[in-house]
Amino acid sequence: MDPRALEDEIQRVGRALSEAFPSRRGHPIKILDERAMDLASQDAELRAALFRFVDVVPACRSLDDLASHLIGFLDEVDDQPPPLSAAMRMAATKTGRAALGAAGAAGVRHMAHRFIVGEDPGDALPTLRELWRDGIAASVDLLGEATVTAAEADRYAARCAAALDTLAPAYAAYGQQPLLEHDTLGPLARANLSVKVSALTPLLRAEAPERGKRDAAPRLRELLRHADRLGAHLHIDMESLDSREAVLELVLELLAEDRFTAGPSAGIVLQAYLRDSPQTLDRVLDWARTTPRDQPLVVRLVKGAYWDHEVVEARQHGWSVPVFERKAECDANFEALTRRLLEARPAVRVAIASHNLRSVSHAIACNRLLGSDDADIELQVLRGLGDDLGHALAASSLRVRSYCPVGDLVAGMAYLVRRLLENTANESFLADQAHGVPLEQLLAAPVT
Ligand SMILES: Cc1cc2nc3c(=O)[nH]c(=O)nc-3n(C[C@H](O)[C@H](O)[C@H](O)COP(=O)(O)OP(=O)(O)OC[C@H]3O[C@@H](n4cnc5c(N)ncnc54)[C@H](O)[C@@H]3O)c2cc1C
Repeated sequence: MDPRALEDEIQRVGRALSEAFPSRRGHPIKILDERAMDLASQDAELRAALFRFVDVVPACRSLDDLASHLIGFLDEVDDQPPPLSAAMRMAATKTGRAALGAAGAAGVRHMAHRFIVGEDPGDALPTLRELWRDGIAASVDLLGEATVTAAEADRYAARCAAALDTLAPAYAAYGQQPLLEHDTLGPLARANLSVKVSALTPLLRAEAPERGKRDAAPRLRELLRHADRLGAHLHIDMESLDSREAVLELVLELLAEDRFTAGPSAGIVLQAYLRDSPQTLDRVLDWARTTPRDQPLVVRLVKGAYWDHEVVEARQHGWSVPVFERKAECDANFEALTRRLLEARPAVRVAIASHNLRSVSHAIACNRLLGSDDADIELQVLRGLGDDLGHALAASSLRVRSYCPVGDLVAGMAYLVRRLLENTANESFLADQAHGVPLEQLLAAPVT
C-alpha cells in the first residue's frame, strides 16, 4: 500500500467525517461537566482519590453509602481546590450533607442518563430502538456489582441470560437496516451483549488463572448456548492485564468446542496499549485460521481502558511497564494492528472501537485501499462519549455500533467516574478536541 495514498485518504475521510458531525449537540466532554474535568485533570491527588472511590463503588448499597465513601476519599486530598473544599465544608453538617447528597444525586442522575441507557434492558429498549432507527446498532453492557461470591456470579449470569431474552425478540421486531445486518461474509446478529468474565467468577486471579477459568467456564458456556439459541452475538470484554490470559484462553477454548462450530457469533477484545499486543494477535489469528467456525470470531480493537492502573501496578511491584508510555506509540500500534486485522479477513471480523478521528479515519481509509467493502468493517463508540462520531459514521453509510451500559445509579456512578478519569488523562483525543485543537493536528499521523 502506497503510504502517501493512504495518508491522503485518511485526511479525506477525516475531513468528511468531521463535516458530518451533528452541529447542535453538546460536546461529550462538556456534558461530563467541564469543571469536574478540569479539576480532575489538574490534580493528581484528586485523581488518586477518585480512583480509590471507583474501587469501592460496586460494594456500596445506597446513595448515602456512596456519598459517605466519596466524602471520605475526598477528605484525604490535602490541598483541596476551592469548589471541593466548599463542598467538604457543606459535608460537615447534617443539613449540608443532605443538600450535598441531593445535589450530587441529581447531578449524577442527569449525567448518568446520557451515558446509561436504562436501569435494566427493558428500560433501555426505547433508546436502542431509536438508535437502530438512526442506523446505529448497539452492544448492551450490564454494569455489574463486584462479584466476590459464587451466588453473585450466578446472579450476573442470570441477568445476562435475561438481557438476551429481552433483546432478541425486541430487535427481531425492528425494521430492516441492511447495513447493520450483513457484511460480505453473511448475516450479522441484531441483538448483541457484552459480558465481563470477572463478573462470571469470583476466582479470577493472576496467580491462579486456571481456577478462574474453570469456575467461569460453565456460566460462559451456558450463555454462549443461550445466545446461539436466540441468534444473538456475545462479546467478551477485556479487562486489566492480570486477567488477560485467563479470559483469552477461556473464550478460545470454549469457542473451539464442537457444539459451538455453528454459532453463536462471538467476539473478543485486543488492547493496543499493551506492548505485547502484536504477539497476542498472532495467537488469535493462528487460532482463527485453525478453528473454522461458521461465524468468524469478531475482534474488537481498542486502546485499553486501564492505562493508569497498569502503570501504577507495574511501578509498585518494580515490574517493567506492560503498556506503551508514549501515547503516539500506542496510536501507531493501533494503526498497525488495524491493518493486520483487516488483512486477516475472512478468518476474523473486524471492529474498530475508538473516538479518535485519526484512528477511525485510518481504519476506514486502510480498508478502502485494501480494496474491501465498507460493509466489512465495523466502527464502535461508547454511548455518551462517541454519540456525535457515531451519528457522523452512520450518516456516511458506515456500520456503527454503540456500546450501551445498562444499570442502576450506583453502578452508573462507577462507570461515570471511570470515563471522567479516562478523559482527564494527560493525553486524550476527546479532551484535545474539546480544547479546540485544530482538525489538521487532530488528524496528524502519530509520530513515534
Ligand atoms: C465500543 C467500545 C468498547 C470498548 N471495550 C473495551 C474493553 O473491552 N476493554 C478495554 O480495556 N477498553 C475498552 N474500551 C475503551 C478503550 O480501550 C479506550 O480507552 C477508549 O476508547 C479511548 O481510546 P480512544 O481511541 O477513543 O481515544 P484516544 O484519546 O486516542 O486514546 C486514549 C487512550 O490512549 C491510551 N493512552 C493514554 N495515554 C497514554 C500514554 N501516555 N501512553 C500510551 N498510551 C496512552 C489509553 O489506552 C487511553 O484510553 C472500549 C471502547 C469502545 C469505544
